[in-house]
Amino acid sequence: MRRFEVIVVGAGPAGTAAAYLLARAGLEVVLFERGPYPGSKNVMGGVLYTRMMEEIIPGFWRRAPLERPVVEQNLWILSADAAFKIGHRHEVFAAEPPNCFTVLRAKFDQWFAQQAVEAGVFLVPETLIEELLVANGRVVGVRAGREEGEVYADVVVLAEGVNAQLAQQAGLREEIAPQNVAVAVKEVLALPRKEIEARFNLTDNQGATIELIGTATAGLVGTGFLYTNRDSLSVGVGVLAADLVEAGLTPYDLLEQVKAHPSVRPLIEGAEPREYLAHLIPEGGYREVPSLVHEGLLIVGDAAMLVNSLHREGANLALTSGRLAAETILEAKKRGDFSASALAPYRQRLEDSFVLADLKKYQEAPRFLATHPHLFQLYPRLLNEVAREWLTVDGVPKREKQRAIWRRVTQARPLRRIIGDLWAAWRALR
Ligand SMILES: Cc1cc2nc3c(=O)[nH]c(=O)nc-3n(C[C@H](O)[C@H](O)[C@H](O)COP(=O)(O)OP(=O)(O)OC[C@H]3O[C@@H](n4cnc5c(N)ncnc54)[C@H](O)[C@@H]3O)c2cc1C
Repeated sequence: MRRFEVIVVGAGPAGTAAAYLLARAGLEVVLFERGPYPGSKNVMGGVLYTRMMEEIIPGFWRRAPLERPVVEQNLWILSADAAFKIGHRHEVFAAEPPNCFTVLRAKFDQWFAQQAVEAGVFLVPETLIEELLVANGRVVGVRAGREEGEVYADVVVLAEGVNAQLAQQAGLREEIAPQNVAVAVKEVLALPRKEIEARFNLTDNQGATIELIGTATAGLVGTGFLYTNRDSLSVGVGVLAADLVEAGLTPYDLLEQVKAHPSVRPLIEGAEPREYLAHLIPEGGYREVPSLVHEGLLIVGDAAMLVNSLHREGANLALTSGRLAAETILEAKKRGDFSASALAPYRQRLEDSFVLADLKKYQEAPRFLATHPHLFQLYPRLLNEVAREWLTVDGVPKREKQRAIWRRVTQARPLRRIIGDLWAAWRALR
C-alpha cells in the first residue's frame, strides 16, 4: 500500500500549482495525470496572466515555454460581412514582466509539471484515477486504474477539470447542466513568424489577441478568438452546449464560419492546420460553485467551476485556487487535522481573493446572457449597419443620416426595449 501526505488528481494549472507549492514546503506529494504527459489533454485559447503564475514561481516567464507577450487586445463585433472593431494597444504591456502571454498548453503544462517534479513531486502520468476511497465518511485516498492501484494520503486535492467525474461519483458535485457549460473547439494553424508580425502589425515577438462576438457564434451565447503564437495562430470558438443543441449546429460548423469571415480569412490565409482540439468550459459562475471542502478533500480549478468567462480568465483562477488550497493544507498539516472544518478556510481565502470576488460580481451574468440573446444577434448586426451608414459619404446631409439611423435602430428594437437591455446589463455586470 502506497501512502503520501497529499494526493493531487490532475496535472493542469490548478493541480500542478498545488502540488508544486506543497512539495516545495517539504510535503510528500503524488500528482496523477491520466494523459501520457501533462498538457497532452489540455486546451486553452490561450492567454496566461503573468501575475498569478509569478505568485507560484517568481520569474517563471524568463524560463517557461511561452509564445508571445500580448501588447494588443481587441474585440471584434461581427455581422455576416462586417466587423466593428474595438482595441487597445499599450507598450507598457511589453515591459517586463509582461501582463500576459499567449501559450500552448501542451508545452506549458509539461514545463510546469517538470518544475513540480524538480521540487519533489512524484508525477504519475498515464494513470486514470477511477475512484475516491472513502472510510467513515472521510476521503482517505484514491484508486488508480492499474494493478495495486490503491493510494492513501491525509488529504486529496481534486484538480480533475471541468467534467469532475470523481467529484460527481462521490456525490460532491452535480453533473454540469448544458446551460452552464460551453463547448469549445480550437485549431492551431502554422504560419511563419514574420508573416504573423506583418499581418497583425507586431514586432519583436510581441503578441495580439482578438475576441469575436456576433456572427462568430451564429448569434449564440459565446465568443470566438484568434490569438498569435510564435509561429502559429490559435483560432477557436466556444458556445453554450444547450444553445448549440437547440440550434442544431456543431462546433465544427461554427469554427469554419469564423475562419471564413471576411475580416478573419485574410489573417489566417495560407496557414497550415497543425492541431484540432475540443474541450468544455464551465460557465455557471458563482451560483454553480459547489461545496469546495469535504472531510479530507479540496476541489480546485475548473472542477470547482472557477472560470470568469466574461474576462476570458480560467487558468489564472485555477492557479490561484491551487495556491490557496496548498496554503490551507499547510496550515491544516501544522494542526494534524484535515477535517472539513480544518480545510474550511480555503473557501474563505477564495472569497477574499479576486477569484470568488469576481465570480460574485458577475453572478447574474449567466442569467442575463441567457435571457438577452439579441446581444449576440440583433445588436452586432445593428452596430455594423449604423457604422456603415454613418461612414458612407453619399451626399445625404449628416442630420438626415442621423435621423435615418435612429429610425432604423428603433424599428429594429423599440427605444424602451433598448433602455431595458442597458439597464439589465448594468445590473448584471456592474
Ligand atoms: C477553448 C478554451 C479557451 C480557453 N482560453 C483561456 C484563456 O485564454 N485564458 C484562461 O485563463 N483560461 C482559458 N480557458 C480556461 C482554462 O483552460 C481552464 O480554466 C484551466 O485549464 C483550468 O485548469 P484546471 O487545472 O482546473 O483543469 P484542466 O486544465 O482541465 O486540467 C485537469 C487535468 O486533470 C486531468 N484529469 C482529469 N480527470 C482525471 C483523472 N480521473 N485521473 C487523472 N487525471 C485526470 C486531465 O487530463 C487534465 O490534465 C480556456 C478554455 C478553453 C476550453
